[in-house]
Amino acid sequence: MSNAVDNDVMNKIVALCKRRGIIFQSSEIYGGINGFWDYGPMGAPLRRAVEQCWWKYMVEDRDNVEGLDSTIICHPEVWRASGHLAQFSDSMTDCMVCKKRYRVDQLEDPHHCPNCGSDKLTEPREFNLMMKTFVGPVFDEEHAAYLRAETCQPIFVDFNTVRIATRQKLPFGIAQTGKAFRNEINPRFFTFRSREFMQMEMEFFCRDSESMEWYNYWREERRKFYTDILGIEDGKLQWHDHDKLAHYAKAAVDIEYKFPFGWGEIEGIHHRGTWDMSRHCEYSKQEKDCKYFDQDTKESFFPTVVETSCGLDRICLMLLCNAYDEDTAATQKEGMEEDVRIVMHLPARVAPVQVAVMPLSKKLEEKAQPIRQALRKKFRTAYDDSGSIGKRYRRQDEVGTPFCLTVDFDTPNDQAVTVRDRDTMTQERVGIDALASYLDERIYK
Ligand code: ATP
Repeated sequence: MSNAVDNDVMNKIVALCKRRGIIFQSSEIYGGINGFWDYGPMGAPLRRAVEQCWWKYMVEDRDNVEGLDSTIICHPEVWRASGHLAQFSDSMTDCMVCKKRYRVDQLEDPHHCPNCGSDKLTEPREFNLMMKTFVGPVFDEEHAAYLRAETCQPIFVDFNTVRIATRQKLPFGIAQTGKAFRNEINPRFFTFRSREFMQMEMEFFCRDSESMEWYNYWREERRKFYTDILGIEDGKLQWHDHDKLAHYAKAAVDIEYKFPFGWGEIEGIHHRGTWDMSRHCEYSKQEKDCKYFDQDTKESFFPTVVETSCGLDRICLMLLCNAYDEDTAATQKEGMEEDVRIVMHLPARVAPVQVAVMPLSKKLEEKAQPIRQALRKKFRTAYDDSGSIGKRYRRQDEVGTPFCLTVDFDTPNDQAVTVRDRDTMTQERVGIDALASYLDERIYK
């Protein structure tokens, strides 16, 4: 992340997120806790919708990917086998003058403090990122356990149980979404680097001979997810192939988005060879559970794994940054005094509110409420009958509502409402009977 930080835009996004209940600091009344974030009434539906899009795209729409929901705490041996206990660490250094702490690999100049310029940095120290807890009433090393640092390890451990239950044959994948925890040295850039975050991972098990084909296939599938499903322009994503690979890997790429603070990784696609399955075999001694038995050739071997691994919070942050916009012309067009319109151009399918129903007067409630009730069966809806219509539009624009419907005094006669489009600001009269299909076509196009 080398580009200049656009603090101004970032600060505006952070302020909007708090003001409108999208994302804000956890435990704020106690001064907050660094690296932990709460999703409010406008953030929780956004995050769930993105997760649901991923799940549908990666699991529900495919015959060869199965879903899993494992526990956060696993047997501690899982993390010994995965190498996390021995190696999942970052090198950190402290500035002895201003007391700031850094990850050594993120310092442009490892000899000087980027905050105060001093050259008094401590010798680098290794720091394990696993979060530790104790299971049972005795708090000693024998009862130590860890909150998972990534969601994929339980997938490897459950491989054979899932395979038998689903009668899948190679090649097939197992996917899961859920919380992961890392005791990051330096949480920063809003939710980008958090200590508790959501991952969405899919491990695809295949034969080694066809693994590079699958690697390329998943690269393309994941690109389409960002461009076709989430509407991110191709040019705003960058594909960073790793030059240094783990000894067992044939290829790895990071998908990066240009945040206001610079390019940042949102997803990694990794060829992991047979590393994970062979390590779990070595530590669990359960060869049958870690190998795949081929009925045709009567051979038993470790499957090769291609992984797609992304952070849900980073995707949400990308969507928020990508959506943020301000314009003044628009407010004049809608008859407001010159004012800045903050509008979030969120993709309609993940917007926290997809349709807002607005009766021009409270007297129209009897007509407007049934319209809202009918639409809420299919869409995330809001009902707003207070303040001028211009102010109501502004409120919805700020949280990215793609469609606002006004119910007016003509509605009882023509059985129609006016649909206002957030992005083009055009207005169209649509019959109440046709509303659901009109919106469905535009929201899930
Ligand atoms: P980084 O280099 O940024 O620390 P990483 O390479 O360690 O990330 P992975 O272990 O490959 O990340 O994790 C997969 C995905 O999980 C990342 O692409 C990212 O979207 C997400 N992720 C990882 N760490 C965090 C974090 N601290 N906060 C939020 N999301 C994270």
